[in-house]
Amino acid sequence: MLVGYRTPVKEPTWTILMYRNLCPCFHALKLIKKDCLLSPRVSRCASTAAVPRITTHYTIHPRDKDKRWEGVNMERFAEEADVVIVGAGPAGLSAAIRLKQLAAEHNREVRVCLVEKASQIGAHTLSGACVEPRSLEELFPDWKERGAPLHTPVTEDKFGILTETSRIPVPILPGLPMVNHGNYIVRLGHLVSWLGEQAEALGVEIYPGYAAAEVLFHEDGSVKGIATNDVGIQKDGAPKATFERGLELHAKVTVFAEGCHGHLAKQLYKKYNLRENCQPQSYGIGLKELWTIDEKKWKPGRVEHTVGWPLDRHTYGGSFLYHLNEREPLVALGFVVGLDYQNPYLNPFREFQRWKHHPSVQPTLEGGKRIAYGARALNEGGIQSIPKLTFPGGLLIGCSPGLLNVPKIKGTHTAMKSGMVASEAIFSQLINENLQSKTIGLDVQEYEENLKKSWVWKELYAVRNIRPSCHTVLGVYGGMIYTGIFYWLLRGMEPWTLKHPGPDFAQLKPAKDCTPIEYPKPDGKISFDLLSSVALSGTNHEHDQPPHLTLKDDSVPVSRNLAVFDGPEQRFCPAGVYEYVPLETGEGSRLQINAQNCVHCKTCDIKDPSQNINWVVPEGGGGPAYNGM
Ligand SMILES: Cc1cc2nc3c(=O)[nH]c(=O)nc-3n(C[C@H](O)[C@H](O)[C@H](O)COP(=O)(O)OP(=O)(O)OC[C@H]3O[C@@H](n4cnc5c(N)ncnc54)[C@H](O)[C@@H]3O)c2cc1C
Ligand code: SF4
Repeated sequence: MLVGYRTPVKEPTWTILMYRNLCPCFHALKLIKKDCLLSPRVSRCASTAAVPRITTHYTIHPRDKDKRWEGVNMERFAEEADVVIVGAGPAGLSAAIRLKQLAAEHNREVRVCLVEKASQIGAHTLSGACVEPRSLEELFPDWKERGAPLHTPVTEDKFGILTETSRIPVPILPGLPMVNHGNYIVRLGHLVSWLGEQAEALGVEIYPGYAAAEVLFHEDGSVKGIATNDVGIQKDGAPKATFERGLELHAKVTVFAEGCHGHLAKQLYKKYNLRENCQPQSYGIGLKELWTIDEKKWKPGRVEHTVGWPLDRHTYGGSFLYHLNEREPLVALGFVVGLDYQNPYLNPFREFQRWKHHPSVQPTLEGGKRIAYGARALNEGGIQSIPKLTFPGGLLIGCSPGLLNVPKIKGTHTAMKSGMVASEAIFSQLINENLQSKTIGLDVQEYEENLKKSWVWKELYAVRNIRPSCHTVLGVYGGMIYTGIFYWLLRGMEPWTLKHPGPDFAQLKPAKDCTPIEYPKPDGKISFDLLSSVALSGTNHEHDQPPHLTLKDDSVPVSRNLAVFDGPEQRFCPAGVYEYVPLETGEGSRLQINAQNCVHCKTCDIKDPSQNINWVVPEGGGGPAYNGM
């Protein structure tokens, strides 16, 4: 059962589908006759007598070599659709809606199935969010009449540089990415939930509580679809009496819309070498809270951003504070830290807590009440880091390939538009009677060609140098100067493209070369400890399942991460999942993984300096239970 803060939101009819046993929708199921569908996986069982076993997940310890799995029925049911979509975020839902709109316009039947790992649509969504309504207007020109939850048009834009004691206002010149007039402050989870209702009304089959765990392939190498995860496995990796195999969903085209740092997308990059012509992706971690504040301090429509304190100039990041016009005096506030930071002692959560005490921030929160907390990684690589978007049988949309406009911190409009462009290309292949496909899964290359002709590409190209311009000796301030001179004058027309220094995990310096950071104790009024924060995310996972934070080698956390970097996962995880605890023998330490706390932000998979952590999907429905984050 999911626990945590919830306000009454209209329960869409599909929430009943979260109960796996009640799910009636995989109708006309076709049983696949296979002896065992376990795919061969790399086993790197590095556990020795000295290293306690941490990872019990079958992706590391294959079940076909495990006696406890002998005789267990591994047959899977399969269902056929035209298009399967993984992820019900703005991208996946816009793609689903556009497909159904086109089918209705052409009087065609197109079966669209969408799986989402959250138990309710929108429950894993975390964003700012100040959104540009451009794509929504294209998707539903009558979105206002339909009651889309965009209640707060931006009325006031503020930007400042913080020092420890003061705030230096920075004018927002017309045309700069920070201009927000015409945009709306939203609770993105509510907008996503509303998109889910629209999709369902158009006939999209939505399956919340079903995580896509595996990509399936045809013999010719094209994508065949996905399999949802198995359930009923004990913490130690043995089958429970309730073990149930996942389901296969086959499609002509599978659309991957997992958001930033998708777990399946990572596999696709390798399989199809999709990243060979782009730079490594760069990321940030965004931490966010919702507060109800004193009504006198509430300025609905105000948008505030800052850079500077408490981060030093070489650490990219900044804050947002948005005043929402909901039924109560609500503000959304958050802090983003670039994951290319170097000091392993840096703790993004505690930087966020510290920032709230700034003299220009604290007065807004005094007398208020924090009601929600969460965290999620976001892409910062820009157009340089976008991989190839299509491959036989599938394609990538939204933040999965990284279509976020970094200086604007906006990716909702580009995610939605990419989903719409993808669906238009998919639909024209689906109805093309003369189509001669080289592979069984359709290769929709027109999607990438069309996206490159759309406003999305133009927009991302124009801002491509802003984020990498922060890598000079001037740090973030160099980026601001670059924006003021080159972006404002040339709007991205400069004939050069700057590069990122390399993957984020490689930027971390050994602890011996860095200074530990002293963070103040939380006061329990403005700043808080980690565990009381995680409690506000409503996060829960079935306790008795193998940890979904898998280690390729169980010995690496102590032998390298702790020895060289002083265990940075204890600090960069915004949910306290990783803890180094003393060994029972009294000598040395071991890593303890509190997987139930995981808010699915993906930071550990990105920032682990040893790249030893592989985030895989837990049992469907597990994770945060955000309400309008
Ligand atoms: C702190 C922060 C602030 C931001 N501020 C803004 C802002 O102000 N304005 C703005 O426009 N954008 C903002 N963004 C970016 C914006 O949130 C994203 O660009 C947008 O959500 C991307 O949409 P998406 O559909 O691609 O991915 P997501 O919104 O991440 O959705 C992906 C969905 O897929 C599901 N999923 C993932 N893997 C699986 C799987 N294997 N099986 C089943 N389901 C799966 C997830 O649970 C999720 O629901 C912000 C992001 C962050 C983190
Ligand atoms: S375990 Fe990883 S994905 Fe989960 S909350 Fe911590 S850093 Fe994020």
